Amino acid sequence: MEELLEQLLEECRPYTRSGRLAAYIPELANADMGDFGAYILSSDGRSACAGDYNKCFTIQSIVKPILLLLALMDNGEEVVRSKVGVEATGKPFDAINVSDQALLSEHINPMVNMGAIAMCNLIKGDDYNDKFNRLLSLTRELACNPNIELNESVYRSEKMTGNKNRALAFMLKTYGMLTDEVEDVLDLYFKACSISVSSKDLAHIGFVLSNRGKVAGTYKRIFNHEYAHYVNAILMTCGMYDGSGDFAVRVGVPAKSGVGGGIMAVVPTRMGIGIYSPGLDDKGNSIAGIKLLEKLSKRLYLSIF
Ligand code: GLU
Repeated sequence: MEELLEQLLEECRPYTRSGRLAAYIPELANADMGDFGAYILSSDGRSACAGDYNKCFTIQSIVKPILLLLALMDNGEEVVRSKVGVEATGKPFDAINVSDQALLSEHINPMVNMGAIAMCNLIKGDDYNDKFNRLLSLTRELACNPNIELNESVYRSEKMTGNKNRALAFMLKTYGMLTDEVEDVLDLYFKACSISVSSKDLAHIGFVLSNRGKVAGTYKRIFNHEYAHYVNAILMTCGMYDGSGDFAVRVGVPAKSGVGGGIMAVVPTRMGIGIYSPGLDDKGNSIAGIKLLEKLSKRLYLSIF
């Protein structure tokens, strides 16, 4: 499998030169477009790595399924479902609803910014520091990596410039969908997006989702198997921004991308895949990352359809 991954990664390398960095978060403009890495963790115990698989980048939106998981673990499915919907919006991840129509929970889902900010409000903890520490612990546990940390400079960069997310949070507050203070909830959201991970970490996290809550090798259960169904279903329909339909046709597995350039793919019962290449298309998805997944899906028959 490693030989195949290395070969496909080299075939896709020319695509790393296309696309743009997510410069709207100033610190992300410092990424190196030439970085390209991938890691696969498979249920038969094998793993494969290629390129810069250990290179760290910020998790960005790939934290959204982890926020959703923690909200589910803390509140149960019924409460989470009543607060945020599960339908694809067909709009960009940071779209603002500017119509006169009231914002309703069914207008958003946990994979767009409004839904993820609402999830931050649902996470339990003594205060917002404690809530972040619980999220970081869960991320480390899912990734089997106790060394995962916050990238302070990306966090500060997002907090200073994240006015669109402030607008989204105030919309949620206006329509009674946030009970806590906007700045507290946003601080958790900005920190969550600034957690530093590698492709290897993403493959491990994706593996637990593919394995319905159990860690590779140890059979340790981290969450109820029903939450994997919930999260994976939403990843399938909403995980790749407003390119999720195209991704379903081309690759056909639940996945989540982030504007940091990462993609986490979940192949139910089979494998977790992590990829990093920071050149993004106009929807915010890694161009070389999707290309590599498309080729992997064809060669390993990954599509669930
Ligand atoms: N922190 C980013 C934002 O809120 C996350 C966006 C993303 O990766 O989709 O704009």
